[in-house]
Amino acid sequence: MAQFGTVFGDYFAIARYADGTWQQPEITRVAPIPLHPAAHVFHYASTCFEGFKAYRWEDGKARIFRLHDHVARMQKSAASLCMPIPDADLLANMVIDVVAKNIQDIPAPPSSLYLRPTLIGTLENIGAAASPSTEAILFVLTSPVDDYFEGGARPLKLLIEDQKARTTEQLGSTKTGGNYAAALGPTLDAKEKYGADQVLFCPGGDVQETGAANFMLISDEEILTKALDTSFLHGMTRDSILRLGENLGYKVSERNFTVDELLEAVTTHEAALSGTAASLAPVGRLVHKGKEISVMDGKPGPNAERLRTALQNIQCGAAPDTHNWLTEVA
Ligand SMILES: *Cc1c(COP(=O)(O)O)cnc(C)c1O
Repeated sequence: MAQFGTVFGDYFAIARYADGTWQQPEITRVAPIPLHPAAHVFHYASTCFEGFKAYRWEDGKARIFRLHDHVARMQKSAASLCMPIPDADLLANMVIDVVAKNIQDIPAPPSSLYLRPTLIGTLENIGAAASPSTEAILFVLTSPVDDYFEGGARPLKLLIEDQKARTTEQLGSTKTGGNYAAALGPTLDAKEKYGADQVLFCPGGDVQETGAANFMLISDEEILTKALDTSFLHGMTRDSILRLGENLGYKVSERNFTVDELLEAVTTHEAALSGTAASLAPVGRLVHKGKEISVMDGKPGPNAERLRTALQNIQCGAAPDTHNWLTEVA
């Protein structure tokens, strides 16, 4: 299949917000959305999005992973940006309808249909720098995607950035475009200077996350990851892995830890990035103050593999959905 995110399902769902209310959503063929050049989003970055997946099982029906949790997260993102908040039922039904409409385009598991709800402020007013957009468009785009691990995972190399933050404390847990723009420069620099795949942002030594994935350390006994606060994105994959880890008997430690602790831990712990796109991707090397450090033996470890498989088995129907994470779409 083509590169992640470059191929789209034929249909998308779209709804408009005007006069204080959400209008009836439509499902139509994917097409450009005409926008006035003064639209609020172009000037003042009123935008947020979600990313999650639907899987088509052998029975021909699709299952959406953690739909209602993603809808709730999008509502929180919208609220933090003072944007019109999509009604939970409206957004959930748009997602369900668009999955049903594109169901034939969903590749067999572990491939899936990636779902991308997006909210943009469309008020036509370039003087609205300090006032919210009272008009908006909400759409749900889809993209068939391959399993990230097809053909074997290459362990990732992360540059440890112990000064700069990924974004602001205020918007760290908001899935909004500007955060990715902020992380882009440092990430490109890390690629060019060190051949790093991603930057692990650890402002003031506090280990947070990379540009678009959460970070965890995993030993035979323990899963260690930063405790929830507003500085980083609360990943649904992170939460799912922690819950499954508990079920498998790991001690789950959600607490803050420093770069010094991290550098010590990688002799006993595997490291991994969690997120919808890559599930749980192994980290093989770290770069710190110009020096390369191997994580364990630098190869993908058995614990991350075990947790990832547990997650994937639920998503693909090979294990029971004991946490009620799946929404069925016929
Ligand atoms: C989306 C995202 C994640 C992962 O969230 P999931 O719900 O697991 O997909 C982590 N960090 C950032 C910055 C993100 O944008």
